[in-house]
This record gives sequence, C-alpha cells and structure tokens, in this order.
Amino acid sequence: GAERTKNVLILMSDTGGGHRASAEAIRDAFRIEFGDEYKVFVKDLFMEHAGWPLNDMERSYKFMVKHVQLWRVAFHGTSPRWIHNVYLAAIAAFYAKKVEAGLKKYKPDIIISVHPLMQHIPLWVLKWQNLQKRVVFVTVITDLNTCHPTWFHTDVSRCYCPSEEVAKRATLDGLEPSQIRVFGLPIRPSFCRAVLVKAELRKELEMDPELPAVLLMGGGEGMGPVKKTAKALGESLFDKELGKPIGQLVVICGRNRTLSSALQEVPWKIPVKIRGFETQMEKWMGACDCIITKAGPGTIAEALMRGLPIILNDFIPGQEVGNVPYVVDNGAGVFSKSSKQTASLVARWFGPESEVLKKMSQNALKLAQPDAVFDIVKDIHQLTEQQGPLSHISDSLTSSFSLTSSFS
Ligand code: UDP
Repeated sequence: GAERTKNVLILMSDTGGGHRASAEAIRDAFRIEFGDEYKVFVKDLFMEHAGWPLNDMERSYKFMVKHVQLWRVAFHGTSPRWIHNVYLAAIAAFYAKKVEAGLKKYKPDIIISVHPLMQHIPLWVLKWQNLQKRVVFVTVITDLNTCHPTWFHTDVSRCYCPSEEVAKRATLDGLEPSQIRVFGLPIRPSFCRAVLVKAELRKELEMDPELPAVLLMGGGEGMGPVKKTAKALGESLFDKELGKPIGQLVVICGRNRTLSSALQEVPWKIPVKIRGFETQMEKWMGACDCIITKAGPGTIAEALMRGLPIILNDFIPGQEVGNVPYVVDNGAGVFSKSSKQTASLVARWFGPESEVLKKMSQNALKLAQPDAVFDIVKDIHQLTEQQGPLSHISDSLTSSFSLTSSFS
C-alpha cells in the first residue's frame, strides 16, 4: 500500500534465558506476515557492558524505580547528596542514554521489550521525550511461570504472557485485562511451521530407523549434568541379556566444546550421535522420542511443539525455577536431578512404560503454542492500526541527560 514502512525496535539482552531467540523469532514473524510493512531492529542494550553485575543492577534498579525523586535529581538536579550508590545510579543513567540514542537512530513506531529490565527506563525516556503517545510500547515475557516483577509495567500498551500463570501475576501487579494477552512463548517461525516426518529425518540425520531415541542437551551453552547423564544412558539403554541396544542417544552439546570432545572418547555400546551447536534443532527434536534438558524456556517450548516428553535435569536458579512446575504439573514431563534415575526412566519409557511416554507426548502437544509468535505480531499490527498513522520521531530529541555534572 501507500503506507510508509514502520520501524520496530526490539530491546533485548544476550544474558541467557532465550531473550535473543525470542527477539529473533518476533523479527522473523514480522517479515513473514507483513513483509516490507515493518522494518525490525534488534538491539542488545547490555552487550557492550559485559562486566556489569546483572544481579546487583537488578537490585539497584528496583531501588531507583521506587524513588522517582531520585531519578529526577540524578538527571536534572545539581547536588544529589542523598544518592548513596552513585555507581548504580550512573549505570541506570547510562542505560537511559542508550535508550535515547536508540530512539534517535531507529526512530521506532513500536518498541518491544523482551527483557525483564527493559520496561521502566525506556518508558521513562519516552515520557521525557513526549513520545509516549506516538510510540507503541509492548512487553513480551519470556519466562514461563515465575517471573520477575520488573517485567510488569502499567504504562505498556500490551504485556504478552506465555502462560496463564504469568498472566495472573501481571493482573496482581496492576495490569488491566485489556493490556494482557496470553499467546505463548515466541518461537522461531522455522520451528513452528516445519512439517516433519520422523522416518525421513532419521534417514537424513543418519540415525537408526527403528530404535527409540532420546535427545540430551543443556541450552545453547551445553550446561547441566550432560556428561554424566549420557554415560548413564549408555548403560541403561543397553540390554545386557540380549546383548543389544534398546534405544539410541543424540547429545547436542551446543557451544560446549569440552563436553563434545569428552563424549567422543567414550566407548559406546549403543548408537550415539554427538553434535556441537546445531542450527536446525527442529530436525533433531523431530527425529527423537523424548528429551532431557535443563529448564530453559526456549528448549521447553520447542520440545512441546514436537510433542517430546521432557526430563528436566537442571535449572538456572531464579529465572528458570518456575519452568519446572510448568512442565511437570501439566503432565508433559518430570524433574530428576539424578543421572542414574533419569537413565533408568528413559529405559522404562522405551520398554514396559511406553504408554506413559505416549500420554506425556500428548500432554506436551496440548501445551504447545506454535502460533504464539504470529499471534503476537498480528496483535501488535492491530495496535498500530488503532493508533492511526504514527509519525516518525524527529531528529531533534531533547538531550535530557547531563549526568556528569550531577555527580560532581
Ligand atoms: N539451541 C540451538 N542449537 C544448539 C543448542 C541450543 O539452536 O545446538 C537453541 C535451542 O533450540 C533454544 C535455545 O538455543 O532455542 C536455548 O534456549 P533456552 O531458553 O532453552 O536456554 P538458554 O541457552 O537461553 O539458557
């Protein structure tokens, strides 16, 4: 049409927890659904400050959000004597400056935050710049269950929650039903839309065509008790009496090179594939019958889409804890920290308890939300239509932060 291209700025941070994966999924879905109508920029706001202690920042950030006055003084005042943590105030101010620079550079019509710490400051900057009416600001939450309160901000146009549990928390934190939508966790479109046939995948991936297969992984970095579990599976999936394997194993080590080379050394009695970072996870998942992984939200959502029962063997404290009950309470998997127990459970699933595996697979498919990412971008599109023609942000943003003087 005659309408100009709208700019979308996605704020993310590569600090684990699948924020990047979600950001890229949203970008790709915009391209598929709307082509040239939107231009999407994914901006990592923390990357250049890899040294930042994130936890500490989180704490100080909360402190500052509570103390709006402190903000005013930090940014506009002259002598903030009562700021006792100048370092942390400076971090937040620096972050605000980056947001401002992002506004200037990308002139977004829409801002999407996929990070728990990227609501308050960007929204403040929009307010300072008198842009809150002209820019649609939405949050896409990437935690499945327990999530940090900083995800919720009452000034957003929409807060997209991956599950009803998260939506409940959003309501408790003061968001209106009109602001909340529950579509699911955004997953790469290539994953959601893949039509896969197990037999063909096994051939392509050079796996055994008959033996049931377990996929073992630990996020992008290959974390958790992967090595121990692989070895235990090597034993439990070998039938000593018959002298033959009852299953096969795929280990995806991600970027963990040490892990993959250690596993290459093991003398396996069952068919095993050891892989590094894979770019076509949908194929490996589609070729297997169950998965063992740490409780990463991305991996969980993807496994559900492929109907894989999940054994969770680890979680990152804090951000991933809540993903465990999400899987277990919905009957799509179990939690087990013991490698031995995990291995013998898989052996039972591949033998006498195959009905349990089947039932869990059905539960997994019921939980899966393959349309989530498309529902999200379509809803954002509707929001911008409602707003009417948005005007581009001009180059002349007021420069509001003259911090150095405030701290002297
Ligand atoms: N992943 C991948 N290739 C690999 C290992 C992992 O593409 O070799 C992807 C995986 O499919 C998922 C993401 O990396 O989308 C991991 O996200 P998750 O939230 O599970 O854990 P994180 O690594 O972010 O802690």
